[in-house]
Amino acid sequence: MTLHKEGWQSTLCAPRSNVPGGAARVLDSRDRGLPARIPRSEPAATCTIASMKTLGLDLGGTKIAAAIVEDGVVLEHSARPTPQSGFEAVLASLVSASRELLARHPEVRALGIGSPGPLDLQRGLVLFAPNIAGMTDAPIRERLEAALGLRVVLENDANAAGYAEHRYGAARDFSSSVFVTISTGIGGGLFVGDAVIHGATGAAGEVGHMTLLPGGPLCGCGHHGCWEALASGRAIAREASFSYGTALSTQEVFARARAGEARALAAVERAADFTGLGLANLLKLFDPDGFVIGGGLSQVGAFYLERVRVAAERYAQGFPSVEIRRALLGAAAGVIGAAAVAARAETQPETQPETQAGSSG
Ligand SMILES: [Zn+2]
Repeated sequence: MTLHKEGWQSTLCAPRSNVPGGAARVLDSRDRGLPARIPRSEPAATCTIASMKTLGLDLGGTKIAAAIVEDGVVLEHSARPTPQSGFEAVLASLVSASRELLARHPEVRALGIGSPGPLDLQRGLVLFAPNIAGMTDAPIRERLEAALGLRVVLENDANAAGYAEHRYGAARDFSSSVFVTISTGIGGGLFVGDAVIHGATGAAGEVGHMTLLPGGPLCGCGHHGCWEALASGRAIAREASFSYGTALSTQEVFARARAGEARALAAVERAADFTGLGLANLLKLFDPDGFVIGGGLSQVGAFYLERVRVAAERYAQGFPSVEIRRALLGAAAGVIGAAAVAARAETQPETQPETQAGSSG
């Protein structure tokens, strides 16, 4: 595995000549057969989505971001605090953020929204949002469509950010990529060609809840030993705080680790080791062209990512080498990805919804 640093070039709109059956054949998650092998050297084909302006919304626990995006480029954006007084207030805020931008871009026909979940993608519901008050079984797609008169595509927030990296960021020259975002928690997304892999029920890509240590620390999902409970920013802070006997933030732990303090370094190395294990497991399952690491911990840089790479290489010894890259788009990834899933739905309506299970036989 090589940790790819800045300075690489990508080839956009390259032909997909070596993919039998074309992109849709490989991408459809309803197809339960084995996907065609995409050679690592084959660059992603990004011409199948026509260039169009769409609106991207990123619903976060503290902030609602909105942007008009064309071909991965943010043309105009805005942000406002996320109301914590229930779904109606959140909806009103999303609608006003959208109207403000749509007034100046009346040609926009579709809107994508990245939301924390769990979600019901088929029914367009936010089932529950842990950091937003009053978001239970919220019919966000239907209500936004009714209020704005636009097609609305709901997407998981980590999938949206990862899709932005896959199409326009760190993985833009990959045909397939796996995104892992490591901040307070750990999320992820799986991408093949132009598609987000949702799985049968929309839960694909919840990599943070893969069990890496049976009987390990309790995770927010109720299970023990999840990747998130072992290697997220919160887990690193918890582990180091325990060994120091005083409460430390994730940033403080990294600062101490950089300064060579053994206990802080041990917490960082243990977390990096588990993340390497998680990536190695994903490599064996998906054999992607590469990984993209996003979220707050990716911003620590080589000090952290190099340790992850070494661990991943060790756990995947004997398997094909794969690149691990740092996310490039930062906080804008959420709106860019949300806008991109809407653009994809507009240009490839026949592939929607991807969440249907096993209907093609
Ligand atoms: Zn969990």
